[in-house]
Amino acid sequence: MNPVFADLPTTIFEAMSGLARHHGAINLGQGFPDDPGPIDVRERAAAALRDGYNQYPPMMGLPVLRRAIADHYGLHQGLDLDPETEVMVTSGATEAIAAALFALIEPGDEVVLFEPAYDAYLPLVRQAGGIPRFVTLKPPGFGFDEAALAEAFSDKTKVVVLNNPLNPSATAFSRDDLALLASFCDRFDVIAVCDEVWEHVIFDGRRHVPLLGMPAMRERTVKIGSAGKIFSLTGWKVGFVMAAPPIMRVLAKAHQFLTFTTPPNLQEGAAFGLAKETAYFEGMRNGFSRSRDRLASGLTERGFRVLPAHATWFLNIDIAGLDVSDDVAFCRMLVTERGVAAIPVSAFYPRDPVRHVVRLCFAKADATLDAALDRLEGLASCRT
Ligand code: GLN
Repeated sequence: MNPVFADLPTTIFEAMSGLARHHGAINLGQGFPDDPGPIDVRERAAAALRDGYNQYPPMMGLPVLRRAIADHYGLHQGLDLDPETEVMVTSGATEAIAAALFALIEPGDEVVLFEPAYDAYLPLVRQAGGIPRFVTLKPPGFGFDEAALAEAFSDKTKVVVLNNPLNPSATAFSRDDLALLASFCDRFDVIAVCDEVWEHVIFDGRRHVPLLGMPAMRERTVKIGSAGKIFSLTGWKVGFVMAAPPIMRVLAKAHQFLTFTTPPNLQEGAAFGLAKETAYFEGMRNGFSRSRDRLASGLTERGFRVLPAHATWFLNIDIAGLDVSDDVAFCRMLVTERGVAAIPVSAFYPRDPVRHVVRLCFAKADATLDAALDRLEGLASCRT
């Protein structure tokens, strides 16, 4: 069988959620909120399921959703997108990433990946025949510089994959970082596949900067978003992809044979949600940043070193100095002995792993976070 898939472990998210179920643990591993998501968005999807058209929607997505996506990014990010030619709906951001990589990469092309890398990227690049070139980002800043990009980019580079804000580091790249990356894309004629699913989940007054909006990147960026992340409805698997028409035409050819289309009622719900007033998005951010602060201060009080968390549903702890060999051992101990599931960040490093950072999801009710904190009591007091 194909070693790209046959040699892969089950994803760390599924593995940790399985262990959490087995041990009855509080699951702060796989990222999903325990909030049921906005009721009006869900009601809209329910009404569309009950009363609406439930046959194949158009392959590119419902016109109402494509229009809502273009309007939404116009309002929130100042982007000027044509819903007819530059917007496509996919079954989750993962499908959009797969479609983009399959459409853009030819066997032998080099693809620049930043590690930590979301675990889907590398197998999809390999399946497309791409040769990965890694830029390794290290805690606590997870930044890159010109020398790191110069080592990774070459005349053979076809694509760079950027996740911004970045999971699992919970950091967002600055405008200067993006300008530097854009200059390399321009110089080496590279297309950026930009996984921006966390664009709205960004805290402390920071604003997301879309790479597609930067000079020189408008024609060479694939921007990917996710209704699941924007509306805390991770099971919906409604993604969107935006790109200039020459790129989009080819992405659509890949999408038509991956999933072809996405449930129409969920598309209607997403279209309704994207048109929500700005206060909704502010409220969502405020709620998550309060949860972040609650978990961060609880961990700090218990002696853990918490890394800065500027975006996403995650924060990281630095376990160097604790009496444990690495992040995997720590997470195994945590779930079996303490009943708390977390994610070892080394799972995101295919080349040069960081083994002393552990990711925790704070998108949970206060009582859940407090119960998890109780279970972590005493663990960090034996720091060396
Ligand atoms: N994006 C989620 C996370 O980082 C996981 C998604 C999945 O389990 N496939 O936790």
